[in-house]
Amino acid sequence: SVVTRFAPSPTGFLHIGGARTALFNLLFARRHGGKFLLRIEDTDKARSTQEAIDAILDGMTWLDLHWDGDAVFQSERAARHVEVAEAMLASGHAYRCYATPEELTELREQQRAAKQPLRYDGRWRDRTDWPNDQGYAVRLKAPREGETVIDDLVQGRVTVQNSELDDMVLLRSDGTPTYMLAVVVDDHDMGVTHVIRGDDHLNNAFRQLGIIKAMGWPEPAYAHIPLIHGSDGAKLSKRHGALGVDAYRDELGMLPEAVNNYLLRLGWGHGDAEIISREQAIEWFDIGGVGRSPSRFDLKKLENLNGHYLREADDERLAGLVGPRVAKLIGRALTPDEQALLVRAMPELKPRAKTLDEIADGATFLFAARPLALDEKAAALLQGDAPTLLGKTHDALAAVRDWTAGPIEEAVRQVAEEAGIGLGKVAQPLRAALTGRTTSPGIFDVLVLLGREESLARLADLRT
Ligand code: GLU
Repeated sequence: SVVTRFAPSPTGFLHIGGARTALFNLLFARRHGGKFLLRIEDTDKARSTQEAIDAILDGMTWLDLHWDGDAVFQSERAARHVEVAEAMLASGHAYRCYATPEELTELREQQRAAKQPLRYDGRWRDRTDWPNDQGYAVRLKAPREGETVIDDLVQGRVTVQNSELDDMVLLRSDGTPTYMLAVVVDDHDMGVTHVIRGDDHLNNAFRQLGIIKAMGWPEPAYAHIPLIHGSDGAKLSKRHGALGVDAYRDELGMLPEAVNNYLLRLGWGHGDAEIISREQAIEWFDIGGVGRSPSRFDLKKLENLNGHYLREADDERLAGLVGPRVAKLIGRALTPDEQALLVRAMPELKPRAKTLDEIADGATFLFAARPLALDEKAAALLQGDAPTLLGKTHDALAAVRDWTAGPIEEAVRQVAEEAGIGLGKVAQPLRAALTGRTTSPGIFDVLVLLGREESLARLADLRT
């Protein structure tokens, strides 16, 4: 049965490309009733950090990318990697190499000068006159004739001449396993049947197959997925907003279901379907449907999807996410009553926003201190006759006993009628006076949400 894995190196945050790789692995496994495993490739001790490990686990949890079983830490498996290298030495599929670093540097310089490919020349491949006062590296005895073929599930058939693959190092002379060896041994021991990863690893696959064949292990199927590019077509970098997944949550205010849907559609599609739930994705996902060309990251599209998921989301949940953002904007925490008001206001707030921050921004008027700070356009609307008109509106509203949308609307309409102007001519300054802005939810909703006392107080403030 199918086993996939996500194998991040914890040298930075979980970026958007990594998250997509994890998602494809998860979907493929779930689609086929298999397992999705997680392996942290932390062998590079100098570059791996606990912070990065935490960020990866945290990001995957937020995105609902749950792996089966416990995460495997590659660094804990070094003894097993050494064991396999030694088995390969014993079976003659690997050999001891005593070439010194200086020697290898010299070889590279000669090759560079002669415009030859830089490649270890196999100088210790057939030697047995081993010096006994010197450490050695263990190298793969790779076949020199023939070719290696990969029928990649995304890239199609890719062939490399074996003469182009050199005898790579499996164990360094200090006895530590190389990354190439570790990946292969771990994939084998974890029973991985499908290796789905970025196409920057395609070249590695040919080398890794050398080890797999030497050990007589089953070859996994490979699917090398194109990297994500920025909107300008260049490889995605920080400049393009290649942020950690946590930034999509914290800074951009995205919902995890929106990010998931966006990542799924980045390089994979199912007809015209844009909105695809996790359940639907599991049913539809096919690795052959992943395109061969790099996909372009488009923040606008992600924001639009996020807007969709905000509208779908439960109001209580949204208010929980938005509350702390509002608190930041107004410089104090919300009281439980205010938090409840935020929940009630959510149906009016969320249709106008694409991010959680936009919702928060749209909600601040509910909690603002009096006298209300006005933005420039709102202040302009309150010039001239407006205060007089709003004075009348105040008095008409003060007479409303049943503070609900119907009677409130009735009172405001009457003010417009008596003044011989359209409703909009009252609603605009009224909105400015109640929210400090020129855009907000519908004016009657604003009045209902603010409540009788606060609405009247904000209008009364204009009289002084
Ligand atoms: N650790 C590698 C990376 O983060 C992935 C290795 C693999 O998937 O085989 O790029």
